[in-house]
Amino acid sequence: MSGDSIDIKCTSCGGLAKFEEPFLFIDPKKIPDDIEYKLWGGWGIIEKFPSDVKWVAPSGSSQYLRGGGDNGQGGYPLLTFGLIQCGSCHKNIKHKLNWPSDAYWQWSVKGEILWAWDRSHANQILKYIEANIRPSRKCYSLKYIPTHFLSSKVKSGVVKQMVRSLNT
Ligand SMILES: [Zn+2]
Repeated sequence: MSGDSIDIKCTSCGGLAKFEEPFLFIDPKKIPDDIEYKLWGGWGIIEKFPSDVKWVAPSGSSQYLRGGGDNGQGGYPLLTFGLIQCGSCHKNIKHKLNWPSDAYWQWSVKGEILWAWDRSHANQILKYIEANIRPSRKCYSLKYIPTHFLSSKVKSGVVKQMVRSLNT
């Protein structure tokens, strides 16, 4: 994941769009005086798209950031409620992420979905699947791939699908 945006299918036109985390969470001591922010959980929160998405503190007393979507746990779930910015139809749409079915980069392999956060992540996965000798998967961006997609039985099919979508 390259920071705070990922590639998704636009919910309006189906084109390649960015799903953006609408807030920056920064140490308030590092925010310049002339920038407006809100305080929550020790973070200074800056609204990246103030006319589209306003910060509302989550209900509940736990004040921390987490991944993993809107699963009913406490804190603020990152990359869950955000803004779609579409490069094709140029719409800005408020959206609750539904991952991985919203993923722009996804490939169906025998009924299971292989997905990537964005183009560079997709290229990284492709290189890994193509390799004959695979290094152990230490980094998070490769670790999540179910071994299902790495078996020699599906390899050529997966590679073909990925190359096709990455070249269009
Ligand atoms: Zn669109």
